[in-house]
Amino acid sequence: DFELANRVKALTPSTTLAITAKAKELKAQGFDVIGLGAGEPDFNTPQHIIDAAAASMNEGHTKYTPAAGLPLLKKEIAKKLHNDQGLHFDPSEIIVTNGAKHALYTLFQVLLNEGDEVIIPIPYWVSYPEQVKLAGGVPVYTEGLEENEFKITPEQLEASITEKTKAVIINSPSNPTGVLYSEEELKKLGEVCIKHKVLIVSDEIYEKLVYGDHKHISIAQISSELKEQTIIINGVSKSHSMTGWRIGYAAGNQSVIKAMTNLASHSTSNPTTPAQYGTIAAYAGPQDQLAEMNAAFEQRLNIIYEQLVSIPGFTCIKPQGAFYLFPNVAEAAASAGYQNVDEFVAALLEEAMVAVIPGSGFGSPNNIRISYATSLDSLEQAVSRIKNFVLSKI
Ligand code: PLP
Repeated sequence: DFELANRVKALTPSTTLAITAKAKELKAQGFDVIGLGAGEPDFNTPQHIIDAAAASMNEGHTKYTPAAGLPLLKKEIAKKLHNDQGLHFDPSEIIVTNGAKHALYTLFQVLLNEGDEVIIPIPYWVSYPEQVKLAGGVPVYTEGLEENEFKITPEQLEASITEKTKAVIINSPSNPTGVLYSEEELKKLGEVCIKHKVLIVSDEIYEKLVYGDHKHISIAQISSELKEQTIIINGVSKSHSMTGWRIGYAAGNQSVIKAMTNLASHSTSNPTTPAQYGTIAAYAGPQDQLAEMNAAFEQRLNIIYEQLVSIPGFTCIKPQGAFYLFPNVAEAAASAGYQNVDEFVAALLEEAMVAVIPGSGFGSPNNIRISYATSLDSLEQAVSRIKNFVLSKI
């Protein structure tokens, strides 16, 4: 066997993988499995974006671009940040990356020295801790309690800060909970960050997926002081149903962006050129399909939420954004005779043919993540299967 580097030996494989693989295996065997694991919109990319990318290739835009992305795309991103959030960024403060995930990866690589700490609220998106560790950093967890809608308080944040703290990650709306921090909450967290000079990594990838009267606000919008201390991470994957295009961006401090650009120039060279042209169209073109997709998500959320909380032993915070529900099912799992929620999830797949993601992968072992980025029909069928499964066991 090859002797692999220590840094990848320590890498924990995604807990969502096992269940996804098992669901695929059952499907291949002809079982009618309903998958609620998807982390991507079920709609195709709007046609004008696809057309723009195709046209760019036909026009010969099939070569390298600058490492930080096409100047025209950076201009469109700057315009978007200004129009949507009232934030002014010079194009030199923006880097286009191979998805938001790669923006985060590159950011931690340029920020962290061995032993530097990054505060990660629980429940967290699975890649944060691994990316921090890959950069030599140390994840420091603080739990957003369910009674506080999974959000961390300023007191919790302050208690997690040490002299090694470099940054805190804020993901609003959140994957996996779908909850949104309010302006007031962000302001108070921001005060702690300013007091202790902690950098804020604001992952806003679900910015456009917000429902009802709720409104997304970036912590960078609160004050110019906070803007200077924040790196915004965003992209088109979720907003424009473009997960496979792999285009995201980071916006913030010029020297951080410059270091990220240097690193990208030696690792990726640039994000895929036609995908960048498509993204120019995504930002510059009509946005009406976003509203249509949002309306579909919101309708599903409202219907499925009610059905889900009617299952005995299920409790659930009603999310304000993203496309996930994160019910606490510990009571249902226990009364159905399972040792823990992971076992309950495995049985749900084997016996009820519904694939959900166990919360343990997000640091919350009492919960499961249900994605409603699938048709209402499948969702209703899946939730009724879950309900019947639970009822048959208790
Ligand atoms: N951040 C969060 C919270 C996510 O859920 C995801 C995708 O699942 C990403 C970042 C990565 O997005 P992208 O597909 O643009 O890399």
